[in-house]
Amino acid sequence: MTGPDHSSLPDPPVDLSPPNAAFPSPPESGPVRATSDADAAVQRELATAQHVPAEVMPDVQNIPALPTDRTQDPAPTPTSVARSRPFVADAGDLVIARPEGLYCPPGDFYIDPWRPVDRAVITHGHSDHARWGHGHYLAHRDSEAILRRRLGESIQLQTLEYGEVVNHHGVKVSLHPAGHVLGSAQVRLEHGGRVWVASGDYKLEADGTCAPFEPVRCDTFITESTFGLPIYRWPSQAELFAEIDAWWRRNAEAGRASVLYAYALGKAQRLLHGVDESIGPIVAHGAVEPLNEVYRAAGVRMPRTFLATDPSLDKAALSRSLVIAPPSAARSTWLRRFGADPADAFASGWMQLRGTRRRRGVDRGFVVSDHADWPGLQSAIRATGAERIFVTHGSVPVMVRWLNEQGLRAQAFATEYGDEDDGPEGAAADALTSDAPADASSEKAALEPAGGVDRSADAARRASEAAESPIADGTGTTQESA
Ligand SMILES: [Zn+2]
Ligand SMILES: [Zn+2]
Repeated sequence: MTGPDHSSLPDPPVDLSPPNAAFPSPPESGPVRATSDADAAVQRELATAQHVPAEVMPDVQNIPALPTDRTQDPAPTPTSVARSRPFVADAGDLVIARPEGLYCPPGDFYIDPWRPVDRAVITHGHSDHARWGHGHYLAHRDSEAILRRRLGESIQLQTLEYGEVVNHHGVKVSLHPAGHVLGSAQVRLEHGGRVWVASGDYKLEADGTCAPFEPVRCDTFITESTFGLPIYRWPSQAELFAEIDAWWRRNAEAGRASVLYAYALGKAQRLLHGVDESIGPIVAHGAVEPLNEVYRAAGVRMPRTFLATDPSLDKAALSRSLVIAPPSAARSTWLRRFGADPADAFASGWMQLRGTRRRRGVDRGFVVSDHADWPGLQSAIRATGAERIFVTHGSVPVMVRWLNEQGLRAQAFATEYGDEDDGPEGAAADALTSDAPADASSEKAALEPAGGVDRSADAARRASEAAESPIADGTGTTQESA
């Protein structure tokens, strides 16, 4: 696949010159690996793995590719990788861990670095992946508005379409849909006959608000593992929204507003996109509405939303309203306008753990995440065909051990990525707001983890404890226990 000619662009932040003869393109790799004996063996192992019942190992051929409401670019053709290729020598790794972040030595750039660097490829706009202070940014076109809003209008940003290839120091770089939030991308790197893919954050079920996840063939896959434990299984979109609508309708009939806490970028828009807007008016918190606008501008269908201060909002109808707010708005004075006793709920993958909901102090928990669940992670990893896997953030030890048990060569990459569901990022989102209440920050501590949590240690503890207890209830196994 050849990218368009960008040679006329002024001062490109990334070297867009055509592939250098010194870095000849590798020969087209072999045919897509058909089902082989090795596959069958892997399939059997996966199906009989001690942690995973066969029914939760979906057929990798059936990874959902549901249509979205927006016009999608034609799907890029995943590049095939011959199964027989030997392991990449470690000396030639296309990505290594450095103190600044994940680094591509031949390309001399980073992927989602957490310390300021010269060149950064950004998988998506969540603040633990898209940080301030880099010299040059490369990201998907749909991430542009989010990144400029979050990091400043003046950042040096080059954008790509999905599947478009740029050549940087002989490394072919392209972005492929990750299905996580608007503009989210997996990063594919090809150099010297090797293909690596860094997933960023991803989920498999299409939700209509961003391009659905596409598996990309590679020999080495760098995967997240936020919900990498067998207890995490998400309900389908249809089941989820039936539950949320029923809850909202019941509250409306009882004359109570319904306050739904959700992370401001991605989760909130996905909920808005899916709910039944005929039930009542929808109020969006000031941290959420600017991001709704970004989604609308990208062509994602969103219901009409009101700011609480909107004069056209019928105050008498607030008792039937759905209020979408970031967790940091809980117990703020901003909420008082929705009556003395609004119903409240929290939307997060962590709601699968009963103890989490109780500690959140809300009436309801809806299990909804923009990350892959356990079957989704297994299925996505398998669909890459990769023989070597790096696990970045989440349930790293559990996932690494499980993959090694499957005969894959898996190891951990230490990163500083968090989890937007519970991470300190809620505070960052509030910083964007136009009508965020002054008390939001002071109230934030009520629902956010304390600062300075050692996330890797915390995640490991959560992993080991939850692995022992199918329903980790109130035993301090989740991040907000800090
Ligand atoms: Zn994310
Ligand atoms: Zn992440």
